[in-house]
Formats: sequence, structure tokens, C-alpha cells
Amino acid sequence: MIYNTEVVIGFKAENNNIIVERGTIFQLCDLIQGYHAKNIIFNKKSKEIFINLKCSLCDEVHCYVYRVQELLSKDIVIGGCEKTGNPILFIGKEKAVSHVIEKYKEVEMNVYSMI
Ligand SMILES: [Zn+2]
Repeated sequence: MIYNTEVVIGFKAENNNIIVERGTIFQLCDLIQGYHAKNIIFNKKSKEIFINLKCSLCDEVHCYVYRVQELLSKDIVIGGCEKTGNPILFIGKEKAVSHVIEKYKEVEMNVYSMI
């Protein structure tokens, strides 16, 4: 079975912007390299991806573990902040990820305009 390994990864950066990068799942490490305090470890043997993400909401580092097959077969997986419950990580297919991020931005904008 041949999988499409193209993924889109979006994550909340320090300045509260959502950064979106595109590439194959095997390029994930390179895609987010250069962004502060985040790293991805690819365990080829267990076919799992470990993602350490410094949370811009609570300032702690959250760790996510995904199976490669899970990432490729789902439209989107969302990682949340363990403390606030807000989503900070989006990985999946282009359409699903951009849709969710758009919705997320809309909600945020509404929240800010209510304050
Ligand atoms: Zn957090």
C-alpha cells in the first residue's frame, strides 16, 4: 500500500502566530528546525514520531507521540496544551489543517474582540 507522505504541520509560535510548514512526513524535523525550543525525534524502529513543543500558552514543554501510520491515515491530528486545553499543534492533510487553523483563528479573534 502506498501512502501519500505529504503533510502540513501547523504550530503555535511564541508570538502567538500559527506557523504552517509543508513537506513529507520524513521532512518534519527539517521543517520545524530553526524554530526555538522545538524538536522532533523520528524513531525509525518503532515508526513513531516524538514531538517536543514549547507551549506559547503555558511556557512548558509538551511531548506528543504519534505513530507514522496514524499521521498518514488521518485527515488531521491535533495536539493540545495540557494546562489550558487549547490546541497548539496541527498535523495532517492540507485541506483539513488549513480549515481547522482558519476556524481556530476566527474563534480567537472573536474572543479578543469580546474583551
Ligand atoms: Zn501548554
